[in-house]
Amino acid sequence: MTAETNWDQTYDVVVLGFGGAGATAARFAADAGAQVLLVDSAPEGHEGGNTRYAGQVVGAGTDFDQLKAYYKAMTAPMHLDEDMIDTYVDGMVKMPDYFRKYLGVEPLSIAKDWDHSKVDLHGILHEFPDFPGVNAYDLLVVHERQFDSALWKKLRKEVLDRSDKITVWYSSPAKHLVQDSQTGAVLGAQIEHDHVLLNIKARGGVIMATGGFENNPAMIQDYLKASRLAPIGSLYNKGDGIKLGEEVGADMWHMANYESLGMLHGLTFAGPAGTRGRLILSWPKAADGSTFTVGDDGSRYFNEAEANKHGHIYYHGTWQVPIANDHPHLIFDQAQWDAIHADKLPVDNFDDITIKAATLEDLAKLINAKPDVLVKARQDFDHFVEAGRDYAFDRPVATMRAFDDGPYYAVPLRQTVLNTQGGPRRNSRAEVLKPDGQAIKNLYSAGELGGINANQYQGGNNLAECLIWGKIAGENAAHGLTPTAATKTAAHTDANSGASEKQSDQQTDATSGASEHDSSKSETTDYHVGPNQYIGVSDAGMGNEIVVRVTYAAGKLENVEVLKQSESADVD
Ligand SMILES: Cc1cc2nc3c(=O)[nH]c(=O)nc-3n(C[C@H](O)[C@H](O)[C@H](O)COP(=O)(O)OP(=O)(O)OC[C@H]3O[C@@H](n4cnc5c(N)ncnc54)[C@H](O)[C@@H]3O)c2cc1C
Repeated sequence: MTAETNWDQTYDVVVLGFGGAGATAARFAADAGAQVLLVDSAPEGHEGGNTRYAGQVVGAGTDFDQLKAYYKAMTAPMHLDEDMIDTYVDGMVKMPDYFRKYLGVEPLSIAKDWDHSKVDLHGILHEFPDFPGVNAYDLLVVHERQFDSALWKKLRKEVLDRSDKITVWYSSPAKHLVQDSQTGAVLGAQIEHDHVLLNIKARGGVIMATGGFENNPAMIQDYLKASRLAPIGSLYNKGDGIKLGEEVGADMWHMANYESLGMLHGLTFAGPAGTRGRLILSWPKAADGSTFTVGDDGSRYFNEAEANKHGHIYYHGTWQVPIANDHPHLIFDQAQWDAIHADKLPVDNFDDITIKAATLEDLAKLINAKPDVLVKARQDFDHFVEAGRDYAFDRPVATMRAFDDGPYYAVPLRQTVLNTQGGPRRNSRAEVLKPDGQAIKNLYSAGELGGINANQYQGGNNLAECLIWGKIAGENAAHGLTPTAATKTAAHTDANSGASEKQSDQQTDATSGASEHDSSKSETTDYHVGPNQYIGVSDAGMGNEIVVRVTYAAGKLENVEVLKQSESADVD
């Protein structure tokens, strides 16, 4: 904030990021009476962040004390503020009621209601079965499916249903926070909207919900010690919230924590930088037969047959995400190649990305590994099969077959990044904290940006956190504001003000959301049809609305044209 700062528009609450946490925060701020601006850097149809790509399972529980014991065991040996843990655990125990009351659905319990004979989810339901309190943990879904954006679509709808209170801007990244230079209070945010940098005043507060830094190569290098990782969620999460927080003096926490998901210890097939990694939840052939995985030098580095816990594998008493290799490879022989090709290939371009050589020495050279190290890895592997025990990593020998005389193959792999947890430290009121533990006035956060989860991770924890702290952030930012009249003012400049306006009766000029975002909803009459043509509109996919024009005559389907869609082409 400088003497020259002019406000372009004023809202009660400004929410940065339209993913699960931001949608929740905006909705609860609106329900508390606030006029809300919700912005996302992604274009319309690609909002939703990681929440849209998630498995849609939400952490819940049946008993506070047991769930707390489970959560503490997962965090151990790290320390976490008791108040934070209690808020989180309490929120999870109350999650079934949250679903009923705020999402309007009867939750389906993975522990009690899910048909595990069709899809066995026991592994993800209790990822740490030996930890105390584990049996109190449950996962909730809105219906009996996964990975279909069902929860996300509900959260999004709650926002769109409040178009009188919530304005949504797409393709509008938050660039900076506006801070009172005297008090340090956050007064608003700078948003780039329609190529114009607007100063948006937030009377009650700004809520940061910009997700993680999965697509920020520098942060991945600095905080996660990896040269590169393959994102499997949104491509728009670039760690902006971390920069925004740094600018206003926020303390950071959990920067080194992240999760992976996928075959082996959370790997996928390597693809070009900047693209989403293919999520391969399971491919048994990667760890059964004459095959093993090597790191950069050509040596094995883990038990390929061990089931990973969101990328965490056993490490001397705890489970940790291994430091990512720069260019790990799956290595196999001709017999394994034959076995792989007897089944459906895990990816269509499998043969294109497979590297072949007559000898392991030559293969090592082609994959930039050390020939002697790769040859020794194979010799040891064969020896373990003969000896009846994998003395290096204890992979069950029943899953190992000695290598044949070649040729030999290598497939480039990459470690995935499901989510990052680091970001500005928050407290149980969702306030963002300074290094001295004091809250930065009027700055809140929710979700994966500065998440509570540290060390080991149980599936469902992140979305639970979005719902729990999204609500707290939204209600706190709106709390104490004088209700505003919902008068629409396009863009107005209002007087500079350095002071927080909470508890003040002065301000009555909130801009109203009106329905800028309602453009997303199509009527069949919006589209031209010729003879024998029909329009179909559906929101059953993952990317909001899809509109098709079907040409059908004399019992014959002649053409189907997709007129509007925002699905991710790379997601099955
Ligand atoms: C494949 C996959 C499966 C998962 N499955 C589960 C699961 O089943 N259960 C679970 O608990 N967790 C799961 N997770 C993790 C969970 O999805 C995320 O941690 C959670 O969705 C994060 O929500 P969020 O609202 O904090 O961030 P996001 O949902 O990522 O939303 C952040 C939003 O901020 C926007 N943004 C970024 N920068 C800016 C900016 N400068 N200005 C404005 N907007 C910005 C982004 O475009 C994005 O829309 C999964 C993750 C992935 C990738």
